[in-house]
Amino acid sequence: MADGDDLLAYRPPVADILDALDLTGIDEVLALPAFDHVDRSTVAAVLDEFARFAADVVAPTDRMGDRQGARFDPTDGSVTTPASFAPAFKQFVAAGWGAVTAPAAYGGGGFPASVGLALQEMLSSANLAFSLNPVLTQSAVELLTAWGSPDQQARFLPRVITGEWTGTMNLTEPDAGSDLAAVRTQAVPVDGGGWRLSGTKIFITWGEHDLADNIVHLVLARTPDAPDGTRGLSLFIVPKFTVGADGALGRPNAVHCIGIEEKLGIHGSPTCVMSYDDAEAELVGDRHGGIRAMFTMMNAARLTIGIQGPSVAERAYQHARRYADGRYQGRATGVRPPARSPITDHPDVRRLLLSMRTSTLAGRLLVHLATHHRDLARHSPDADARAAAQVMVDLLTPVAKAWPTDAGFAATSAGLQVLGGVGYVEESGMAQRLRDGRIPLIYEGTNGIQAIDLVTRKLPRDGGRAIRQLIDAIARSADGPTGADDPLTVSRACLADAVGVLRHVTDRLLVAVDDAPDDALAGASAYLELFGLTLGGWLMVRRAERVAADGARGGPAALECEFFATEHTARAVGLVRPALAGARRLDIPVSGARQPDGARQPDGARPT
Ligand SMILES: Cc1cc2nc3c(=O)[nH]c(=O)nc-3n(C[C@H](O)[C@H](O)[C@H](O)COP(=O)(O)OP(=O)(O)OC[C@H]3O[C@@H](n4cnc5c(N)ncnc54)[C@H](O)[C@@H]3O)c2cc1C
Repeated sequence: MADGDDLLAYRPPVADILDALDLTGIDEVLALPAFDHVDRSTVAAVLDEFARFAADVVAPTDRMGDRQGARFDPTDGSVTTPASFAPAFKQFVAAGWGAVTAPAAYGGGGFPASVGLALQEMLSSANLAFSLNPVLTQSAVELLTAWGSPDQQARFLPRVITGEWTGTMNLTEPDAGSDLAAVRTQAVPVDGGGWRLSGTKIFITWGEHDLADNIVHLVLARTPDAPDGTRGLSLFIVPKFTVGADGALGRPNAVHCIGIEEKLGIHGSPTCVMSYDDAEAELVGDRHGGIRAMFTMMNAARLTIGIQGPSVAERAYQHARRYADGRYQGRATGVRPPARSPITDHPDVRRLLLSMRTSTLAGRLLVHLATHHRDLARHSPDADARAAAQVMVDLLTPVAKAWPTDAGFAATSAGLQVLGGVGYVEESGMAQRLRDGRIPLIYEGTNGIQAIDLVTRKLPRDGGRAIRQLIDAIARSADGPTGADDPLTVSRACLADAVGVLRHVTDRLLVAVDDAPDDALAGASAYLELFGLTLGGWLMVRRAERVAADGARGGPAALECEFFATEHTARAVGLVRPALAGARRLDIPVSGARQPDGARQPDGARPT
C-alpha cells in the first residue's frame, strides 16, 4: 500500500461504536422478546465482521468512485456507476448485509435498529455515495413492512431485503422541496384496478443504475379527487420492471431517468431526474395516507442521515491524525533547534484534532440515544413503555439529524485545516470528505426545517412535558460530585451552565410559539444548536462516568469529556441571545423579503 493510501485507510472504530451501544442501553433492547435470538456477543461479532467488509471491500472504492462518478447516457437513459461499485455491491448482497435489521418473516435477520445504525455508520465512513443505495433500499423495506398489503409484501419484500432489487424515495419535484404540499405528480385510477402515474421527480438518489435487476420506486402523488396540501398525497409503488402476481419480473415500466445532477460531492451516487409517463403503479396503504406513510419512514431515515455526520468526520479524523503525526513544522515549546516538531505537538493542532474526535463521539452518542428509544417504541411489549419511548423519539429526531451533521461538517472542515494547504488540494483526499460531508445537512429535510420542526411541533407537545423531563435529567447529571479531586468537575460545571440556559430558552420559546411565532422561528436554529450541545455534553459526562465506574478500563474518557465541555458545550451559553433575539433583528430588507405590512419587495431589490 502506498503512503498516500495508508493515510486514507479507514479503520472502523468498533470499540467506540460498541461503547455507544452500551451507554445508550443495547442490553435493555436485547432483553425485549423481539430480540430473543440476539445477544450482545452476536452483536459484537456482527460489528467485527461488518467492520472488515467496510474497511477491506467498500473503503477502497471511495476515491475512484469520487473521480469516476456516475455517468448518464442520454441515448438510452442508462446510468453507469463507478467500476469498483458493482463487485462491492455484489458482495454486500451475497453476504446478506442489507437484511440484518429486516423482518425475519421475509428472510431478514430481525436485529434492532440500533445495530443497523452501527453498521450504517461504518458503511457511510467507507463510502458515503455507495452507502446511500442500501440506505434508500432499507427505507423502502421499512415502508413496505409498515404499509404494504400482504400481497405487496410477498411480491416485493424478499428481493428488496436482499438488495437484489433496490429502492428509492420519490418526494421532491421542481416546485416541491421542503414544501411537499406543492407535489403535482398525478395518479389516476385504471378501470379494472391499478393506477397510472405521470409527473417529474427530481433529486432521486439511486433512481437509475446498473447494480440491480429491478428498482422499486416509492412515489408520492396526487389522486384526481385529492384535497389540497399534503393531506391529498398518496403513496405508490412504481417498479422499473413490472412485477407479476408470482413475483416474477415483467416488462419495462414507463419510468425513465432523463438526467443526473452534477454535484459538489457524493459523485458515485446517481442523483436522478425521473420522468413518469403513465407508468403502472400500485397504491400503498390508504388513499390520501401517503404523507403519513412516508413520514414513518422519513423519521427513521433522519436518524440514518444523522449518523452520516459522525461517520464522515470519523474518517476525516483518522486521516488528519495520521497526517499530523508525520508532518513536521516549527518547534513546540521547549524543543531545541535543529529539531522540529510534528504538528500534533502544537496546541492549536491538538485542539483541532480533539475537537474532531470529541464532537464525533458526542454526535454518535446522540444518534444512538434516539435510535435506542426507537427500538423501545417499536418493540417494547408494554404499551405505556412504547408510548413513552415514542415521545422521546419524536423530541430527539430533529436534533439527532441536524446537530451531528452540522458538527460533523465542522469537524471535517477542521480536518482539512489540520492538513493546511494540502487539505485544500484534491489529491489529498480530504477535499472529498468536505464535499461529501456537506449533503447530510440538506437532504431528508434541511437542518433549518429540523429546527422548525423541533420548536414548533416537538417542544410544545403536551405543554412541553417531555423536554422539561429531559432537562431535569440532564440537570441531575450536572449536579453530580464536584471538587478538586473529581475529574468531571469542569465538565459538570459547563453542563450546568448549558442546561440552565436550555431551560430558560425553552420556557421562553414555549410561550413565543403561541404568542409570537416569528420570534420562535427566528430563534429555532440557535435553539437546536443549544439543545445539541447540551445533549452532547450530557452524554459525554455519562460516558466518562461509566468508564470510571468500570475501573478495569480506564482510558482518556474524562479528559475527552472535559475537552468537549470546554470547547463545545461551553459555547451553548452564547446561544441565548440568537435564540431569543426574536424576528425584529431580521427586519433588514433583503431581496423579496416580507415587509412588516406583509407586502413583498419588488424582485431584485437590494439590501439597503
Ligand atoms: C444529493 C441529493 C439527494 C437527494 N435525494 C433525494 C431523494 O432520494 N428523494 C427525494 O425525494 N428528494 C431527495 N433530495 C431532495 C432533498 O430532500 C431536498 O433538496 C431538500 O428537502 C430541500 O428541498 P429544496 O432543495 O427544494 O430546497 P428548498 O425547499 O427550496 O429550501 C431552500 C432553503 O430554504 C429553506 N426553507 C424552505 N422552506 C422553509 C420554511 N418553510 N421555513 C424556513 N426555511 C425554509 C430551507 O431550509 C433551505 O435552506 C435530494 C437532494 C440532494 C441535493
